Amino acid sequence: MTRYDLHCHSTLSDGLLTPSEVVRRAAERGVAVLALTDHDEVAGLAEARVAAREAGVQFIEGSELSVTWHDHTVHIVALGIDPENSLLANGLENVRTGRDARARRIAQSLAASGIPDALEGALAYVTSERLISRTHFARHLIDAGHARDMKEAFKRFLTTGKPGYVPHTWATLCDAVDWIHAAGGQAVIAHPGRYKLSNVELRALITEFRDLGGDALEVVSPSHTPAQYAEFAALARAFGLKASCGTDFHGPGESRLDFGELPPLPAGVDPVWSAW
Ligand code: AMP
Ligand code: MN
Ligand code: MN
Ligand code: MN
Repeated sequence: MTRYDLHCHSTLSDGLLTPSEVVRRAAERGVAVLALTDHDEVAGLAEARVAAREAGVQFIEGSELSVTWHDHTVHIVALGIDPENSLLANGLENVRTGRDARARRIAQSLAASGIPDALEGALAYVTSERLISRTHFARHLIDAGHARDMKEAFKRFLTTGKPGYVPHTWATLCDAVDWIHAAGGQAVIAHPGRYKLSNVELRALITEFRDLGGDALEVVSPSHTPAQYAEFAALARAFGLKASCGTDFHGPGESRLDFGELPPLPAGVDPVWSAW
């Protein structure tokens, strides 16, 4: 296992644990360096920073930015940011604001397919009034008996072409990288193996990201197979990018890997933390 976990979520976005609970769980499970990376949000960092000091964990200020790149949604993890930076804070606020109208459209779309009151249902699962996500709809759909688990809820209702899916425009890739750099952080393409991109498209994304000054690829993630660890390690090296790793932990029972269960980065890559 590795002692670095640079991607996880708390109740300030779509995680199930508070920032302090996240930090304590990570510490108990052997994580020595932790980044909290809530979706489009930095409001949990202050609490997590205090908890990390108490738990003896090195804390990295992070976020996970939602980006629209050529009709695809991709996620860019920010590491080592100053959460007070106004360019970043204003950018994130704009991205979050768009989520409210999107949630209403998701609910309308579900209602048209015979599932009423999904907004009220999802709001019952929302833990920060600043942020509603598809995850909250998924938890409601499971509770209401429309799906057995998260995987099924997304597959049947919340992904492209399904009754509760609505297209949405997030930040641009250029803005995301610029905001992160303005805030003194490093930009990382999150779980590159999760996007429905052809090989050509994936290389185009990585090329554009690299040319914008992007810093790293998330190589080790529960979204990837061991073969993909090797594939993305090779791509990181080929493009002169660093390599990152994280569990993308959302809560007990909801994530494939818990804190402390992440395998090490493949040999031969430059870790994103090499200059920390
Ligand atoms: P949103 O930012 O509102 O589009 O929600 C994206 C979040 O939904 C991701 O960060 C995951 O937590 C969750 N998610 C997306 N796809 C799936 C899936 N197939 N299974 C479980 N969770 C998913
Ligand atoms: Mn999430
Ligand atoms: Mn993500
Ligand atoms: Mn994530």
